[in-house]
Amino acid sequence: STEPGLLQTRDLQVFYGKVEALQAVNIQVDAGQIVTVIGPNGAGKSTMLNAIAGALPANGSLRGQILLSDKDLAGVAIETRVAQGMSLVPEKRELFASMKVEDNLLLGSYRRYQAGEKNYADQLPVVFDLFPRLKERRTQEAGTLSGGERQMLALGRALMAKPQLLMLDEPSLGLAPLIVKEIFHIIQRLKQTGVAILLVEQNARAALQVADYAYVLETGQIALQGLAAELANDQRVIDTYLGLA
Ligand code: ATP
Repeated sequence: STEPGLLQTRDLQVFYGKVEALQAVNIQVDAGQIVTVIGPNGAGKSTMLNAIAGALPANGSLRGQILLSDKDLAGVAIETRVAQGMSLVPEKRELFASMKVEDNLLLGSYRRYQAGEKNYADQLPVVFDLFPRLKERRTQEAGTLSGGERQMLALGRALMAKPQLLMLDEPSLGLAPLIVKEIFHIIQRLKQTGVAILLVEQNARAALQVADYAYVLETGQIALQGLAAELANDQRVIDTYLGLA
């Protein structure tokens, strides 16, 4: 498309000290799309999401551009990026274990509250509708949730910020197959709400099934890209990432 994407990286490079973890990565996410980045362990997938979210560790530095709705995010703080419409669900989920489910969710709307939005909590019924399990357990401490419920809570908390772009780092990691299915089903439902999703996954099969467009990241570089349905039929992708099944 000739329209600028919602999110674009231009020659994005990330260094950890002198080590180049990302090498001139160009990706684009259009409004309302699901875009997935698949690739092996250590390819730089989390690095890419953290760079976009403004959450690189202290020893990380970047070059190149990250554009959200054509505005350069260089030097923009995490909380400003959240206010501008991006929300990251990190691989480690980072919930507050001793706080109730509902309070963890409300923390996701903290920036909106701080900005003086009166309806800062307006996504709570939406989140409870997507995740009835969280509604049932609203007063339960987050630390006592199952793995799948925790992932749901992390997703729900990100949605409380009412993002335009939701970034998910390995949402299926460590979950039982049935729960993985449920999480991917929820990702599809989220798309119907209009939010764009940038999905990093090692579960290439499931990711290519829900995504519109896909990138294969290998050792810090985009090795392949295309419509998800096309990549799912690409012999190299099949051999390397989809196995024989
Ligand atoms: P995984 O699926 O295993 O999480 P990934 O594709 O997300 O892998 P990254 O976590 O982004 O990969 O790591 C990319 C490379 O950068 C790896 O070689 C990793 O060891 C290195 N790396 C990640 N974080 C740091 C850091 N803080 N300091 C130095 N090197 C790092």
